[in-house]
Amino acid sequence: MIDVDVGDFEKREIDAQISRILRDLGSPPPPLKLEDVRKLLKLDLKYYKSTDPGIIEELTHRFTLFARKTIPDIGKHLAAALAKSKLNAFWVPDSRRILLDETVPEPKHRWIESHEITHSVTDWHKEFLLGDNRYTVDPFCHATLEAEANYGAGRLLFLSDLFAKEARDLAPTFDSIKTLSKRYENSMVSTFWRMIESRDPRQAVFGIVSAHPKFPEIGAHDGEDAWRYFIRSPAFRSQFSNISIEATFGLVAKHCTNRKKGPIFFAKDVMTNEIGEDWECTIEGFSTTHAVLTLGIITTKKSTIVAT
Ligand SMILES: [Zn+2]
Repeated sequence: MIDVDVGDFEKREIDAQISRILRDLGSPPPPLKLEDVRKLLKLDLKYYKSTDPGIIEELTHRFTLFARKTIPDIGKHLAAALAKSKLNAFWVPDSRRILLDETVPEPKHRWIESHEITHSVTDWHKEFLLGDNRYTVDPFCHATLEAEANYGAGRLLFLSDLFAKEARDLAPTFDSIKTLSKRYENSMVSTFWRMIESRDPRQAVFGIVSAHPKFPEIGAHDGEDAWRYFIRSPAFRSQFSNISIEATFGLVAKHCTNRKKGPIFFAKDVMTNEIGEDWECTIEGFSTTHAVLTLGIITTKKSTIVAT
């Protein structure tokens, strides 16, 4: 997990592109129809099978045309990457085509497609992109482009500022996340993410997407740690920058029950911020059966007992 922030300049540029798309679509209400976005941008979506030998041939040809030169061993790299399932989507600039691996579970399609759409409208991505993989650029640079494309996907699927506005009218709970997930037709995980990052930047809130501490097969993934993402609101980032993902996941493991689905725990605990103040927090865990989502909200400062 390389944790990179999207720069302010990049955010503004991406915001401007996404706002233009939404404006050109007449500021539609949720849920956003991605086929309308594709039509507007004249993009084509095609599903592929990673086992289909034709895909390597087509991609090699496209990339060679795009790069205007032969890339050494590109076919070999693509085949190896596909075999390891490290590629789940591509943006092929010269044919304005998004290719999506048909074995990717359906709930992830909207996010991946929007991620690729952002690559397609972000000027400075064009010179780097040779598909979504881990070998074309150095890991940090690649992580930056990926973070930017994910940022754009969030802005697009949650209709710029509309989601934050609507989320502020609801309490930060899993019930609200479920309601908004249905309304925007976006996954629980992506809705959970937006709720934490953008509902109220001044409230210290964190979230973890992880495997189930007691049933590791729930939420199993290819990373080394039980957790996949540590999401923090701007206030949490600035006031609790001392809190690590390891320590936070420790709280999940401490409070988690043996329940496998739906609400799996609700607890109160204490977190110490970077200036040494103890704050009470509520921590709530929810299992979608594909992952465990933990929502933590800092509530009140613990009063200091002063001896008199
Ligand atoms: Zn990407």
